[in-house]
Formats: sequence, C-alpha cells, structure tokens
Amino acid sequence: MTTPQSVVIVGAGQAGGWAAKTLRAEGFAGRITLVGDEPHPPHERPPLSKAVLAGASEPAVCDLFKAETLAELALDCIPAERATAIDRAARVVLTDRGRRLAYDRLVIATGSRVRRLAVPGADLPGVRYLRTIADALALRERLGAGARLLVVGGGWIGLEAAATARKRGATVTVLEAADRLCARAVPAEVSAFLARLHASHGVAIRLGAKLERFEPAAGGALQAVLADGTRIAADTVLVGVGIVPNVELAREAGLEVANGIVVDDQGRTSDPDVFAAGDVTDLPAARLGRRVRLESWQNAQDQAIVAAKAALGGDARYDPLPWFWSDQYDANIQMLGMPERWPAGIARGDPAGTSFSLFYLRGDRGPDGAAAIEAVVSINAPRELRAARRLIEQGRPVIPQALADPQTSLQKL
Ligand SMILES: Cc1cc2nc3c(=O)[nH]c(=O)nc-3n(C[C@H](O)[C@H](O)[C@H](O)COP(=O)(O)OP(=O)(O)OC[C@H]3O[C@@H](n4cnc5c(N)ncnc54)[C@H](O)[C@@H]3O)c2cc1C
Repeated sequence: MTTPQSVVIVGAGQAGGWAAKTLRAEGFAGRITLVGDEPHPPHERPPLSKAVLAGASEPAVCDLFKAETLAELALDCIPAERATAIDRAARVVLTDRGRRLAYDRLVIATGSRVRRLAVPGADLPGVRYLRTIADALALRERLGAGARLLVVGGGWIGLEAAATARKRGATVTVLEAADRLCARAVPAEVSAFLARLHASHGVAIRLGAKLERFEPAAGGALQAVLADGTRIAADTVLVGVGIVPNVELAREAGLEVANGIVVDDQGRTSDPDVFAAGDVTDLPAARLGRRVRLESWQNAQDQAIVAAKAALGGDARYDPLPWFWSDQYDANIQMLGMPERWPAGIARGDPAGTSFSLFYLRGDRGPDGAAAIEAVVSINAPRELRAARRLIEQGRPVIPQALADPQTSLQKL
C-alpha cells in the first residue's frame, strides 16, 4: 500500500471528526479535507436531546474539538457543502458547489438521517424531527411551560426528548406502536422500568397505538387521530421512529451496500482505497458472530479510529463490544453487548425498583452453571456495568448466583 498524500473525509459528524483527528495522531502530515453539509465544525449529537434541548447548554457543547485543537489539526474544513458523487476511477469527490476534491484515500462518514412519517398531515409545520443542531434549537423553542408535546415513537430519541420536555414544563404524551417501549433495543424488564419512570414524571404513554393521521387545529396546533378514533391535541409532534443510513453516495459510486456500506473489520469498503465509519456502515462484529449496523456514539468514535489507521496502512482491527447509554430525568441507562434476542436475565437488585442490573449469559454452561456474560443492562448502576465490561472482555465464566447476589463484589469476580 502506497503512503497517501491526501485524504478526503465526507461527513463532519462524530465519525468524520474522529477519523481526521486519528490521521494526525498517527503522524499523517498530508492534506486532510473534511467536507460536511452542515454549517458547523465537527460535532457529536448526544447533548441535542439532553442538555441542548433542555436549554442548559448551547450547541457548542457538541463540538468535538476546541478551536485551538481544530486549528492544530490543520484540516481543510469545507462546511455547508454536500458531496454529490465519487469518481473512483479519477479518485475525486465532487461537491454541490462544483469543487473536485482529489484523494488517495477516502473516508465516508455520512451517518444517517431521520426516518420520516408517511401518514396524512405529516408535513404540517408542527411535526418535527430531532437529528441536527438546527432541529434541537427549533424544537426547544416550542417546548416552554404548558406546551403540549406529542412524541411518536417510544425509542431512545423520543423518550429522551419526552424527559427533557417534562423538565421544561411541557405536557407530554408518547405514542408507541409496539406493546412496550424501546422494544427493539432492550429486554422487557427495562421497557417496564422506562414506562414506570415516565409515568412517575407525568408522561402519558399509549402502547399499541396506531397513528392514522394529523389534522390542523386552530393557532397552528394539530390533532393526532389514532386508528381507534382517539384524538390527541398537541402544539408540537416529535417523530422518533428510527433512522436511515446515508448510503446513496457510496451506492451510486458502485460500492457494496447492504444494511449500510459494507466494510471489513478495518472499515475498508469494497474499494481498497475507500473506507467508511459510523452509523452508515454494515460491519462484521466477530464477538457478536454476525454483521451489524450500530447507531451509537461509541461506534462512531471507535470504528473511525480504526478506519483512519487502516487508511494509513495500519493493521488495527475493530471488533466492537457495543455500548450504549441514555439519560432520562435522573436515570442513567447503560447497555453492553447486543444479543439478537433477550433470554431470561439474571437480576442483581430489584428490577421493579430504580437501581438494578440484568445479566445475560451465553448458552454454553459449565457443570456449576457458570457461563460467560453476553450482555448486561444497568439502570442507575454504572459501577456494575464497568465491572461487567471487564468480565465480558475476559470472557470469564461466572456463576449466576454470584452475579445475582449483591453481597458478592463483581470486581472480585
Ligand atoms: C439527538 C441524538 C441523541 C443521541 N444520543 C445518543 C446517546 O445518548 N448515546 C449514544 O450512544 N448515541 C446517541 N446518539 C447516536 C449518535 O449520535 C450517532 O450514532 C452518531 O452521531 C453517529 O455518528 P456519524 O458520524 O456516523 O454520523 P452523523 O453524526 O450523522 O454525521 C454524519 C454527517 O455527515 C453529513 N453528510 C451526510 N451526507 C453528506 C454528504 N453527501 N456530503 C457532506 N456531508 C454529508 C451529515 O449531515 C452529518 O453532518 C444520538 C443521536 C441523536 C440524533
């Protein structure tokens, strides 16, 4: 592999920013061009549904780098400009302002966009989404005391926004089509915890809700109409029904795309000079025994670091132990691992209470019932999750009774 002279990174979100930083950390002194279609420096998103939406922080809290650090990285940053095509034969990225960005290596970090609702009335001005800084600032304007917020989708974004809106004094209703909250991501006990948490803060939760349409109401408000005829009045609707990876640029350039841009464990695409990282990738996770697409802060950072090293010819490999967290009111929820299904968990602490962990063991058990931990979910128990991380990384078999017994120190296991 020849040493590159110039690297182009498309997408100035978290993965793009980390790729740029890693290139410099690895000693790359050539040209790094970071082109992103948002008007901001490289940034991350978790505060957008938390401190920024709450009004406790301004969007600068999302910046990945302080101004001095960004200057030291000596990037050619091109904000508010969209990459429109990749000419792989000529090794050039084309942009919507007519620029031609030549590369020896390309990193695609185009992330994902919100999935839009397709019901009648979904284009009314009160129907909002939350992905970008602009989205968060516009939504927060609408969430003052007494505002009526209707959240469509009881997943992470919807629930975090619901918690933040309650803090701002809005009344909140959450509609979820499934029979429990966050059903795709967490076991039933955690869904039940989330339902209790939100109910205790005055959020009305409707499970199994089938949204049919929105109708305009007086003063810019709207009414959501459910399949059973129920009508819910709201000033603002926040839709949080998932995301779609931004794969079009890669697909049109002829790169392999499946559930995202297909990459290997170094972030390399089907073109050896083109890498990809973050929400947009379909990646092999040996530890999980399958390919996955991860929509998380941890993945955006860690995969981008490996991809940038590989772009310079390094041999780092990426085998994620997926980690995800969410903050809602005073509750901290953390998950490690990503089972395809949730078998019966081993509870440490009371799952009907406010602080507990659930452990999920692998199928192959020793004679004493000991098995390696596959995943853990901790509610307000970050130390237990940290200890479990070490046990998972070491693949150490543990006896279920020891995990369940709060008197047994996980650190000592
Ligand atoms: C409100 C919110 C809260 C979140 N909270 C958490 C949390 O608590 N915990 C957690 O683990 N994860 C959280 N996440 C998820 C996490 O932020 C994402 O997984 C992460 O941002 C993915 O990073 P990325 O760089 O892959 O994509 P992005 O951050 O989406 O960055 C991609 C960038 O590329 C740009 N782009 C796309 N196409 C082009 C193009 N053709 N030309 C130029 N630029 C382009 C996009 O506009 C964007 O700026 C949250 C996400 C959101 C939206």
